[in-house]
Amino acid sequence: MNHQNGAPRHAPDAAHYDRHHSRSITDPAAYWAEQAQQVAWYRAPQEILQSMPDGTHRWFADGSLNSCYLALDRQIELGRGEQLALIYDSPVTGQQASYTYRQLHAEVARLAGLLRQLGVGKGDGVIIYMPMVPQAAMAMLACARIGAMHSVVFGGFAPHELALRIDDLKPRLLLTASCGLEFDRVIAYKPLVDKALELSKHQPEHVLLWQRPQALSTMLPGRDLDWQAALKEAKPADPMPMASTDPLYILYTSGTTGKPKGIVRENGGHAVAMLYTMHQVYGMAAGDVWWGVSDVGWVVGHTLIVYGPLMAGCTTVFYEGKPVRTPDAGAYWRIIEQYRVNALFCAPTAMRAIRKEDPQGELLKGRDLSSIRQLFLAGEKLDSSTHQWLERLTGKPVLDHWWQTETGWPVTAPCLGLGGHVAGPGSSNRAVPGYAVQVMDEEGKPLPAGEQGSIVIALPLPPGCSQTLWGDHARYLSAYLQAFPGYYNTGDGGYVDADGLVYIMGRTDDVINVSGHRLSTGEMEDLVGQHPAVAESAVIGVHDEIKGQVPLALVVLKDGTQQDAAEVRQQLVAQVRERIGALACFNRVVVVKRLPKTRSGKTLRAVLRKIADGEDYSVPATIDDPAILQEIAASLA
Ligand code: AMP
Repeated sequence: MNHQNGAPRHAPDAAHYDRHHSRSITDPAAYWAEQAQQVAWYRAPQEILQSMPDGTHRWFADGSLNSCYLALDRQIELGRGEQLALIYDSPVTGQQASYTYRQLHAEVARLAGLLRQLGVGKGDGVIIYMPMVPQAAMAMLACARIGAMHSVVFGGFAPHELALRIDDLKPRLLLTASCGLEFDRVIAYKPLVDKALELSKHQPEHVLLWQRPQALSTMLPGRDLDWQAALKEAKPADPMPMASTDPLYILYTSGTTGKPKGIVRENGGHAVAMLYTMHQVYGMAAGDVWWGVSDVGWVVGHTLIVYGPLMAGCTTVFYEGKPVRTPDAGAYWRIIEQYRVNALFCAPTAMRAIRKEDPQGELLKGRDLSSIRQLFLAGEKLDSSTHQWLERLTGKPVLDHWWQTETGWPVTAPCLGLGGHVAGPGSSNRAVPGYAVQVMDEEGKPLPAGEQGSIVIALPLPPGCSQTLWGDHARYLSAYLQAFPGYYNTGDGGYVDADGLVYIMGRTDDVINVSGHRLSTGEMEDLVGQHPAVAESAVIGVHDEIKGQVPLALVVLKDGTQQDAAEVRQQLVAQVRERIGALACFNRVVVVKRLPKTRSGKTLRAVLRKIADGEDYSVPATIDDPAILQEIAASLA
């Protein structure tokens, strides 16, 4: 394991970064052809960049590779067989385990053989609905090995959400475990899977289940298979050559409607982007210990827990715990010290939770954090106060950077490997090479430095970014490319200052971010609207000190409804919890007489958000009845 100390390895060199960024934009094909040489392709691509008539792009179309080979076999070939690949630390079960590259390779190859034995092959979909056990990472890699597309569904999602994804992907196989653990609570997963399969039209041929001792599941004979038992019989499978444009995985993310969007990640662009990210953005080298604090159900889990660190030959820390209460707010400092972590990624919400419980950093005292070089934060807005607190407490640089499920890797970041300059609190840093970030007004006119508008990226997007949505290319074009022709619309608002530093102010659509989890208020509104006593509703994201945002539902009851408002409230909370999951934190429902509307009947959400957050607001000129705003302010007070 790496024991080097945490002194920053990269000195700032603005000219170096500038040269890279400018070449990546003026000649993207040449720039990424060079970067692609870092990848051990089976067949190196000759066709680097193709432009499609609809504005999308294809990267490295004639290349051939295997993503699992790059993450495991290749590392062994490079002499890292005995190096730790994955360290599992689970304060919720008291378990700690580690796997060298050779051991992880053996596990994955055998699981890949089992999947193949079960009839899973190239191009098949596999859903992975699992807690943070190493088998989840093995499952992802095993799919990649045989060319199956995995789709990991976050274990906190309720059966209804899982069913939506099953019907969209139509998986051949579903992989799960008997339970997950939340603090001291055991959450049985199998009843959730059974319920989802009752709700979904599509049925996978088998459910492969990893039994955990904390809760054993009952099995449906014929359909459900015991993972541990089946694995004993399995023979290892070799990696399968894949075309660069074959999907590696589908990852569903919330859009503005109830139907999740299946982001498609292609093997070739992804592999190039992973190596580039780990080296140039995060400044990591083979042998470093990296900790992506997240869950395999999110994009961070794909990029920064599994594929990125392993493809770069790092040791990845795989943590089944929370920032607090597993057992306390010192858990992160313990992990850093114990495994000599060199850099970590986490969402700001985790640090806010730690700060709330241990503002003075009592639990950090006496811990040796000398291994760590930087702390990278992203996933939601990093408030300056948390940024400064964390820097003061740890004495290490705290680096805000910005990306999305769609891009799969950072859009703005300090780019440590390129000598990138690091911004202070408030900014998510400069555009990473490959991304030409601009700000537009509503008419699609570029705005000057400092002015706030929609943040867009000039096409082509660099390798690794999703170029379509699973089964719905038209939705990709309308959701991302239509609003600003020639540009990808990120859905975020903000500005870029005269030094090129990007400031993200929040979403411009109906997506909110709860503890770094992206959720659709439109979907919650749909659910609320299904209640028989509800005439109409508006669900908005309001500020929360720890979670960043939480949903607030303003509900108008039907005239003459017999139901008591408190009862409706309770039922709505229960309904959203059951259908979306507890992760939505949908607890606040306020019954109001009317909603503020424009004369054309559109709900004025922006002004509702301001009222709910206690900010000053001006009465919109388009409002049909200004008096309503005071009524709502009084209801929320
Ligand atoms: P997800 O696709 O779930 O990773 O969510 C992506 C969204 O999270 C972005 O579109 C932003 O709205 C938000 N986000 C991510 N990183 C940051 C950041 N550093 N600052 C502000 N918002 C962020």
